[in-house]
Amino acid sequence: MAQVNDSTERNIVIIGGSYGGISTAHYLLKHVISSLTSKYQFKVVLISAASEVMCRPACPRALISDELLPQDKLFVNIASVFEQYPKGSFQLLRGTAVDFDHSERTVKVDTANGHTKTVAFYAAVIVTGARTHSPLLGYTKDENHLRETWAAFRTALPKATSIVVAGGGPTAIETAGELGEYLNGRAGMFSSKLENHKVQVTVISGAAKILPQLRDSIAQAAESYLAKIGVTVLKGCPVASTSPASAGTLDVASSCMVTLENGHSITADLYIPAYGTIPNSSFVSTTLLESDGRIKTNPKTLRIDNAGPRIYAIGDVASYARPAVHHILEAVPVLCANIKRDLLLDNGGEKAAAPADREFKVDTRETQMVPIGKSKGVGAAMGYRLPSFLVWLIKGRDYWLWTTGNLWSGKQWAKEQ
Ligand SMILES: Cc1cc2nc3c(=O)[nH]c(=O)nc-3n(C[C@H](O)[C@H](O)[C@H](O)COP(=O)(O)OP(=O)(O)OC[C@H]3O[C@@H](n4cnc5c(N)ncnc54)[C@H](O)[C@@H]3O)c2cc1C
Repeated sequence: MAQVNDSTERNIVIIGGSYGGISTAHYLLKHVISSLTSKYQFKVVLISAASEVMCRPACPRALISDELLPQDKLFVNIASVFEQYPKGSFQLLRGTAVDFDHSERTVKVDTANGHTKTVAFYAAVIVTGARTHSPLLGYTKDENHLRETWAAFRTALPKATSIVVAGGGPTAIETAGELGEYLNGRAGMFSSKLENHKVQVTVISGAAKILPQLRDSIAQAAESYLAKIGVTVLKGCPVASTSPASAGTLDVASSCMVTLENGHSITADLYIPAYGTIPNSSFVSTTLLESDGRIKTNPKTLRIDNAGPRIYAIGDVASYARPAVHHILEAVPVLCANIKRDLLLDNGGEKAAAPADREFKVDTRETQMVPIGKSKGVGAAMGYRLPSFLVWLIKGRDYWLWTTGNLWSGKQWAKEQ
């Protein structure tokens, strides 16, 4: 067991290498570490289960075929985007955090090369996100596992005549939309429904309404677009079980019987459980967690108040806001301002420290964009309904790939905000 620390080194550990983790690391390296003048050498240690970061919102389209989105933009090597910083200021530790001891201020990591390492930290940011029940929709392990599950699904896809997508949120609707259009095509302008389609794609929503974050009329528009690509929507029918139980989770290529809570059953050649997420917080003490598994985070300061000084969380693992990239992008400057203040106050920089904490305020206006296939979509931004064309232009064209270049490279955070 190795201890990564010595008396002059102070580790700022970031656990999780995705939207929250990569952004926080760039921001700290650009604007915080350099502002500290002390006898200590501060180092950002990014602990990441994966060696590549990916544009996760693109999964509903990317899982179907490599032809649909440029792979070199979809996955980006994490180590390469941090080569720009001075030697000794950054370390990437490939591995999975398995124990976070907030009293001893250490994190135990099962490293990618098969060892266990204990890293002492001076400050820590937990950004381990949340995983989906279906391993097709983001990292449940790492990029290799994601590619393997996509390959298994793609092998089974040409033989499928019935696909069930469980869930009524944007992930389920986007996944069903991509599959529906790819497999069935789209009805003509004057038809409300695609007749005689090749593959029966069914969305099963537990709630009485799909897209609960959006107003009723937008959800209804989504249903109309789905009908045009041969997707049927069943609402108010929670899934009770599947047989075999492993279908869609451990085995993404398995056919199964889907049983609903109302007693009805549907057979599916392929099943995708696209409802809800599970916070990646099992390595954190339950005393720091909300009942839903997210880390109890001060919604204003983004500190984990119960964990002790200089410990923070943002992103999907944290309780400060609903899971969405735009909330992370709004949270990063606030988080880093508060880390900077905490570090200055503890390292003789009182004069340079901001007089008070910066406060995060969650934007609760109706904001969500849901592409339905490659050319249509529904959504709203900052409370305003968006026409289908704008949803396509902003998100549906490439599922936000146009934004990730600057994010992963750190250009997004060139200026202190
Ligand atoms: C299919 C889909 C579509 C989406 N579309 C949109 C959208 O259009 N717009 C939007 O705003 N949001 C969207 N979201 C939500 C968005 O993807 C998340 O809000 C965002 O990815 C959260 O980022 P994060 O950094 O908190 O964590 P994540 O992206 O979940 O990443 C967490 C990282 O931590 C790693 N990790 C986990 N546990 C450990 C551990 N113990 N040790 C080390 N590393 C670990 C994981 O491997 C992963 O790399 C979508 C989500 C899904 C699933």
